[in-house]
Amino acid sequence: MPKAYNWQLKSDVPYPYEVNRPERQFAMVMDLNKCIACQTCTVSCKTTWTPGRGQEYMLWNNVETKPFGGYPMGWDLHLMELLGEEQRWRGGRYEGPTVLDAPRGERVRGWSPGERDWESPNIGEDEVNEAVDVGTVLKTLPAPVWMFYLPRICNHCSQPACLAACPRQAIYKRPEDGIVLIDPERCEGYQECVRACPYKKSMFNFVARLSQKCIGCFPNGERGEQPQCVKTCIGKIRLQGYLNRPERSRSDNPIDFLVHEKKVALPLFPQTGLEPNIYYIPPINVEIPFLEQMFGPGVEAAVQSYEAMREGKEPELLGLLHLFGGTSGIPHSFALEGDEVLGLDQEGKEMIRVPLLEPFQMRPHKDEQFGVVRQDIP
Ligand code: SF4
Ligand code: SF4
Repeated sequence: MPKAYNWQLKSDVPYPYEVNRPERQFAMVMDLNKCIACQTCTVSCKTTWTPGRGQEYMLWNNVETKPFGGYPMGWDLHLMELLGEEQRWRGGRYEGPTVLDAPRGERVRGWSPGERDWESPNIGEDEVNEAVDVGTVLKTLPAPVWMFYLPRICNHCSQPACLAACPRQAIYKRPEDGIVLIDPERCEGYQECVRACPYKKSMFNFVARLSQKCIGCFPNGERGEQPQCVKTCIGKIRLQGYLNRPERSRSDNPIDFLVHEKKVALPLFPQTGLEPNIYYIPPINVEIPFLEQMFGPGVEAAVQSYEAMREGKEPELLGLLHLFGGTSGIPHSFALEGDEVLGLDQEGKEMIRVPLLEPFQMRPHKDEQFGVVRQDIP
């Protein structure tokens, strides 16, 4: 089988087709320190794309609580089982098996969720990693007791397992933006993509008898707009843009800056070998070994950079994070100007300008002007 270089693993991975890189790659960064599991993204996606018959259980965007949540149930535990104990990183290079290292006669190591696995998308919500006594105060980072919210969509992978496994060649990667789509005219509903996707982001419509998945809100992207899940995000944790290959990284491209330059945004389970294109800024309250299993060996450095930003040592990073949720358009570049950050469109025109420090006003307890006392201020 031919092999393709995977920059996230720094090694070659087998792939049944020639890997054609798109002109630009749809990508998203989510800051897990800010997600509040309000599920607004889930609802906005559901009402936009999956309100139909046979889609009742379908959440192209879901938000689960780690360590115990999962939709479908235990998808990440199954992935760990598939890859086994040989998963190994050495010097930033992955030397273990990927899901594309399949047994003879198969294209992908996969598993098929049962109906019951899709039944409880919020199982494990708000559950912490271990029992904690009432009244415990957590004072250190990372904390001994922790949980965090993980929003997930299709990763629009560079070497998608769903595409590799489809016997009908019904799945394709758009050359203009790398979004992975299923052609409903060609799909016969064999569900090989559902079995193959390790993230379980290809789903089966039992009424239409077709597989369906996140479409990266491509009609939005074609108008220069970010996806619905980004535009509606209450926590302002998301930014969508386009990622370059590491050798073509541009430091003024917001996604390149976070992924390649600062390396604070990391792929989810890169050891799948698929080069997933949704990136996560890891939560700083969580134990490093758990995060390393999930996001690879760059976690410790990413957390350190985030901590440095909190101490005021990373003004560019701080500025860029202020652009998250600030505009419905896709910023193609950004720049710091004094104590403001600018988001610019494809032509370099200013789309948005945000102050690094929000104006802060202290209201007096006793307001002499209006002759009132405010009860909510001590
Ligand atoms: S996340 Fe799954 S469904 Fe999406 S492109 Fe990758 S393999 Fe395909
Ligand atoms: S809308 Fe944003 S903050 Fe709310 S659950 Fe989704 S990702 Fe998290």
